[in-house]
Amino acid sequence: MTTATHEETLGFQTEVKQLLHLMIHSLYSNREIFLRELISNAADACDKLRYEALDNDAIFEGDSELRIEIEHDQDAGTITLRDNGIGMSRDEVIENLGTIARSGTSEFLKQLSGEQQKDANLIGQFGVGFYSGFIVADDITVRTRKAGTDASDGVEWRSRGEGEFSVADIELERHGTEIVLHLKEDAREFADDFRLQSLVRKYSDHIDVPVRMPKVEKARDEEGNEIEGSETTTWETVNEATALWVRPKSEINDEEYKAFYKHVAHDFSDPLAWSHNKVEGKLEYTSLLFVPGRAPFDLYERDGARGVKLYVQRVFIMDDAEQFLPLYLRFVKGVLDTRDLSLNVSRELLQQDPQVDKIKSALTKRSLDMLKKLAKDNDAYQTFWNTFGSVLKEGPAEDHANREKIAGLLRFSSTHTDSATQDQSLADYIGRMKEGQEKIYYIVADGFNATKNSPHLEIFRKKGIEVLLLHDRIDEWLMSHLTEFEGKAFVDVAKGDLDLGEVEDEEEKKAQEETAKAKEDLVKRVKEALGETVQEVKVTHRLTDSPACVVLPEHEMGYQMRRIMEAAGQPLPEVKPILELNPEHALVARLESAEGEGFEDLARILLDQAVIAEGGHLDDPAAYVKRLNTLLSA
Ligand code: ADP
Ligand code: MG
Repeated sequence: MTTATHEETLGFQTEVKQLLHLMIHSLYSNREIFLRELISNAADACDKLRYEALDNDAIFEGDSELRIEIEHDQDAGTITLRDNGIGMSRDEVIENLGTIARSGTSEFLKQLSGEQQKDANLIGQFGVGFYSGFIVADDITVRTRKAGTDASDGVEWRSRGEGEFSVADIELERHGTEIVLHLKEDAREFADDFRLQSLVRKYSDHIDVPVRMPKVEKARDEEGNEIEGSETTTWETVNEATALWVRPKSEINDEEYKAFYKHVAHDFSDPLAWSHNKVEGKLEYTSLLFVPGRAPFDLYERDGARGVKLYVQRVFIMDDAEQFLPLYLRFVKGVLDTRDLSLNVSRELLQQDPQVDKIKSALTKRSLDMLKKLAKDNDAYQTFWNTFGSVLKEGPAEDHANREKIAGLLRFSSTHTDSATQDQSLADYIGRMKEGQEKIYYIVADGFNATKNSPHLEIFRKKGIEVLLLHDRIDEWLMSHLTEFEGKAFVDVAKGDLDLGEVEDEEEKKAQEETAKAKEDLVKRVKEALGETVQEVKVTHRLTDSPACVVLPEHEMGYQMRRIMEAAGQPLPEVKPILELNPEHALVARLESAEGEGFEDLARILLDQAVIAEGGHLDDPAAYVKRLNTLLSA
């Protein structure tokens, strides 16, 4: 027994205490995952040592056969996990097993309200990791030594998982990490050979480090009775011990893919889809990509974790290699193993390597194909869309080459369903186009109701022409990067002249021209009354129920984008809308017969109302109210 020196007791970081509390209470029915987490850490530690040893063989200390060992003692109620991986120094122990290492997680925990903390689902949003040992143990001892250091550099960490932990220096012959879990009374079932073996197979078959368990055998005498004191221990490898992506697809079942996903993505829930590909030829790589079923908490954070786990010829190189996927596919998780990069590759080198771009475009294509395949399952795709749709909408702007493909994956609300759920594809829309219709019509506004009830839709509803209702903040920006789909141009119904093409017959068009002529005088008077506040006044056939609407010139920035830019402090030139009047409306008839001040007031009211209906803001709302009240009490 070595003696411990330099012993100190330290408190856990506040967020660790929160996490422990949250975990112990919310993961009770999922307790077995502790084993997955600890094996996953041990495998990571072996990966890291293998990587370090690439240019420093001595770091193996003569023990290059990487492995994980699991033992248990039923009587004592303990489970011991041992690895001969990289190990930790004293400082690393304090940092890794006293705080939350993963950046962003502690920020996230800080923001949780008391109510949210009770939610078991939230815990799945970040890897629970090492601390999950406390779901089953009331006392954990970790003994570890960093590979390549002296035996005297060993460290012992101990905690009961309450508020604090102790660390001390100890002598440790072997490098790597040993974790002893002292099981809680009600978790003693885990100290069982059969249980442990089946859990290892369930969670760790895909890890390429062997997980071994001891098999104790006693010699037998001539009558077949066990001979006391004759025990011999042999170590048996329990898992498959081959990296999953290396195995042929045909030999891997869904459960194995799902278990592997949970390992790479630090997620609790199943992935929605995956794509496993081996490529040989000019580029040589294997990729295994997944679409998660839920969003990580840092999906919209600039420095959120994203990218694939990178291996070069089976050697783990780095986590979160973001150079292999575009930003708009940042939700994709998985592994890339390639022969085309050097083992010494660093993040900086990745940025300059032309091979990286080639692999990136290949993985981008794979990911889009994977989504296309997923789209055949409506329910699963809807889950995907509700979770990651607004990220995918960044695609057309970022990736011009794949614009058409991405557009095919987008989903919209539409007048076809009049539902706020975005579940209609462009292909659906095209399939329902009216005879003679050549364009894809859409409207953009802030919020679903603003799109659904917009006066601009009146003529479309009357004629039964479908219009896509775009109500996400990002939508106007999205549409500025999409000009057509399958050769059909996109048209914003609130911009420019309305031309319904073949859908309108010659007679209708002629009638419109005649009305325009008949109202020339009215139009002139209104323009005079409104002066410089409008660019132009016209009569329109867009409207059936509303008296007026405002339209923006075709290439002008829309109201939604203006608000975003203004909120970002961007100075914008003033836009002057075009006011369009509905010649069939009673208020317009009344306007026509009004004179003097009454005429001007009514003209202004019609303009202001049209701006409000568009979700715009009035410069002088009080003046509008006053005019309206005068009119109402007349
Ligand atoms: P994560 O694995 O997501 O980083 P964990 O809570 O599982 O989070 O582990 C925290 C850190 O503790 C790891 O990143 C690693 O640095 C260290 N660690 C845990 N287990 C081991 C081990 N067996 N060997 C070496 N380091 C370990
Ligand atoms: Mg971990």
